[in-house]
This record gives sequence, structure tokens and C-alpha cells, in this order.
Amino acid sequence: MSGMKVVEALREALGPGKVATDEASLQARRHDYWALSAIRDHRKDPAPVPACVVRPGNVLDVQAALRAAAAAGAPVIPFGLGSGVVGGVIARPDAVVLDMSAMSRVRSIDPTDLMATFDAGVRGTDAEAAVAAQGLTIGHWPQSVAVSSVGGWVATRASGQFSTAYGNIEDMVLAVEAVLPDGTLVTLGKGPRASVGPDLRALILGSEGALGVITGVTLSLRRAPEARALSVFEIADMDRGFELQRQIVQAGWRPPVMRQYDPRESRRMDARASACLLLMIHEGPSGLVGAETAAVGELVAAAGATPMPAEVAERWLENRNHVPSWDQLLARGLVVDTVEVSAPWSRIGSVYGDAVSALARIPGLIAGSAHSSHAYRSGLNLYFTFAIQTDDTEAMEPAYLAAWRAILEATDLHGGSLSHHHGIGRVRREWLERELGAGGVTLLRRVKSALDPRGMMNPGVLIPNA
Ligand SMILES: Cc1cc2nc3c(=O)[nH]c(=O)nc-3n(C[C@H](O)[C@H](O)[C@H](O)COP(=O)(O)OP(=O)(O)OC[C@H]3O[C@@H](n4cnc5c(N)ncnc54)[C@H](O)[C@@H]3O)c2cc1C
Repeated sequence: MSGMKVVEALREALGPGKVATDEASLQARRHDYWALSAIRDHRKDPAPVPACVVRPGNVLDVQAALRAAAAAGAPVIPFGLGSGVVGGVIARPDAVVLDMSAMSRVRSIDPTDLMATFDAGVRGTDAEAAVAAQGLTIGHWPQSVAVSSVGGWVATRASGQFSTAYGNIEDMVLAVEAVLPDGTLVTLGKGPRASVGPDLRALILGSEGALGVITGVTLSLRRAPEARALSVFEIADMDRGFELQRQIVQAGWRPPVMRQYDPRESRRMDARASACLLLMIHEGPSGLVGAETAAVGELVAAAGATPMPAEVAERWLENRNHVPSWDQLLARGLVVDTVEVSAPWSRIGSVYGDAVSALARIPGLIAGSAHSSHAYRSGLNLYFTFAIQTDDTEAMEPAYLAAWRAILEATDLHGGSLSHHHGIGRVRREWLERELGAGGVTLLRRVKSALDPRGMMNPGVLIPNA
């Protein structure tokens, strides 16, 4: 069926006001925030516009849209707020982009059970403001909190800056409501915990729009912390910092924020830094904050780290949610992106060292650096940033891919995981077998064909060789 016929079928199913075909709507939903899509725009090789943008107002609209698209044989691309950075959204001329941003209702907040249910399209900062008005917090603070949706967090298995104590999104999701490609509505999960067979929520977490559409999410909440303390230290090198962080978390302490910057990034954080900055935020009941600050202080002193002014952490708190403009960077000939991975404690130093060395060998590289920002009993993440200078527009994409390859090869070589929180999208799709093995990819393909036999949901993401 042609693009026009899909649009007619959708207008009939949902009413004309929810199906947009004007140029501005189509242009705004061509792709997400993937740096490579921005590079292709810059090169004048942009992603095509979709056939239409559908804005469902409720679950019934989502069901109707999926059924109409299925009958028309049209692919459907769920779109939260478009802050994804791995190419989870790239339109095609026959596709229906399902823009979830009109599903923006806070459905309920329960201050006794500490649960809140949101429409999937609720903006992160709106969700947090709604619970904050009742003295509560979700505690999920991705840097993109102001430009991402609750449904997008679930679809990408997102992580917030306070994750070391509060966990990642999978630790907060109590229930997921989703519409499967055939229009079936499922609500998976209820309360604090259940033993009811396999955890089907996990099928939707990280599904990147390829298995269905998330329409609602119930998150567990926390009471706003009574106290907060900030501390900053300097330590001689990355390996000593990793070892200190390992001791802190393995002793049972959980500073919600614990970030370690390599020398290059430390200098960017504070001109006085001459080695690696370690920044911590402690939160909770004041007794716990006091005890944690004192115990961590002893570990820090024993490791030979020295205190730095807490204003470094205050500045980070104030400026932490800056969203870079790819267009401005590309206009200056700068190819920039970030790549996040993780590894066990015993290998994290090798991943860091090899990745930074491999980046340094890329022609035109002007910065290749990393920090850690999410710590676990068994290991740590690393968040690499690279910047490559080139005025040759045609050289940008190969340079970009070379930098990604440098980081992922080093991570894979040392047995790390190839994504910590941004997901697979398109940029890591052909790397997924290294993470899951051939058997794991076969299993994922079987899940995909069981739920989405027509392959209509977000074709091109997540599944290798799709
Ligand atoms: C400056 C910046 C900072 C960032 N910081 C962080 C960070 O700290 N932590 C982190 O985890 N991520 C971060 N990200 C990445 C991004 O914000 C997250 O991946 C976020 O969860 C995406 O949400 P979104 O609503 O914008 O989703 P979108 O970009 O719209 O979509 C992302 C993927 O999810 C799918 N999807 C979206 N909504 C639904 C739905 N309702 N049902 C089914 N599929 C859906 C899409 O099809 C797509 O594959 C950052 C991004 C930027 C630009």
C-alpha cells in the first residue's frame, strides 16, 4: 500500500487531527539525536521524511494505529522525545512515526506505596516535578532528563546520574504497559515483587521500539533525601581511582553519584586539577550521610587521595544537564560523540588504557578521554568522549566509525559490555553478536519474529543483519 493510503487508513482509524503530514512535523521526526544522523544532514545526505507522524492521545489510539499500519503493511517507528543517541529512529518514506509526546498524563502518584504511573510520553522533568510536589523523587536523572520521556527510558534501559545508590531504570520499573504489534494490550508487573514465571517486563526493557509500543510505566519512588553532602578528591591516576571506588562500593557504601575523571577531563572540570578528580554526592537520612562521608573519607585518605574544593561538585550539579549542539560542532569541523561501556573491576583499567591509546592513533583526533559514572559491586562503567577535527565532510563518517571501533574493540578484547546505557540502535547493531554470542542473537531474532512476525516495528534497529 502506498504512503498516501496508510495516511488515509490512519486518519479513518484515529481521526484527522492525530495524523500529521505537514513538512515541519515530518522534518522534526526524521531521526533522533544520533551524531551520525547529524553528520549525514551536514553532508547533505539526510534521512528521508516518513509518510506521516501519528500523535496518539491514549492507549486506544495506539492500538488503532498499530492495527491500521499492520493492515497497510507500513512500518511503525515509536518516537519518545528523540534524545536517543544510537540511531534508534531513522525514518523512511513508507513509515509511520508514532510520536508519543501527546501521551503526557501523570496517571497516579501514591505517596504511601511510593509508586507512580505515567503515560509513556511524559517528559522526565515533568515526571520528577509531579512527584517532587509531594516530597518524593524518582531518583532517575539521565543527563537528558529534560529532553527524554519515561517510555524512552524503558525502551533504552537508561541510567541516571544517581544510579550508584538508586539503580538504573530496570531497578525502578514496577510495571510496564505496552501494545504489541498486533494491537494486544499487556500490563506486566504490579507491585514491589512477584515470582510469576519469567519476568516479561524484561522483554520490553531495552526493546528500542522493535517489539511493541510502551504506553504506560509504573515507577517506584523514594522520599526526597533529608541530607546531601558533596565531596571532591584528587587521586594520582585512573587505576588508583578505580581501586578506591572498588573499595568504597565493596565495603557497602553507596554514594548515589560517584564520578572519576581522567586527567584531560579533570582539567576541563577544574583548571587546578593535575591528576584525576573523584567527585561524590552522598544523600539520604542525615545519620547515613554522616556515616558514609566519614567512612569514605578514611578510605580516600588511606588511598593517598587529597581533598579538593566542594565547589567543583557544586558546579557539576548546576551544569550537568547541558545538551550539546551537533550542528554547531560540525560547522567547526568537529566530529564529536560519546560511547559508554562497562567492565568488571579487574579489567576496567585495561579497557580505559587500550581505548584511549587506540583513539589517539586516529588521524585528526584532538581529544579522546573518559570518566566513570556508575559503580557496582562487580565493576564500573566508562563514558568515553572523542573529538576529531576534519574539514573534509566526506571524511567525517569514516572518522566517526573508526573512533567507535577503537572503543568497542578495546572493550570487547577485555571482556567488557559494549553498551552501559545508551543501547544498540543502529550504531552497535552489528556488534551485538560479540555481546550475546551467536546463540543469543538467534534467541533475540526468535523473540522478534514471535512478537512481530511481519517485522513492522522499527525495522533496522537492534537486530543484527535485519
Ligand atoms: C545530551 C544527552 C544526554 C543523555 N544522557 C543520558 C543519560 O545520562 N543516561 C541515559 O541512559 N541516556 C542518556 N541519553 C540518551 C537518551 O536520552 C536516552 O536513551 C533516553 O532514554 C531516550 O528517551 P527518548 O524519549 O528521547 O527516546 P527516543 O529517542 O524518542 O527513542 C529512543 C528509542 O526508544 C524507542 N522508543 C521511545 N519511546 C518508546 C515507546 N513509548 N515505546 C516503544 N519504544 C519507544 C524508539 O523507537 C527508539 O528506538 C542522553 C542523550 C542526550 C542527547
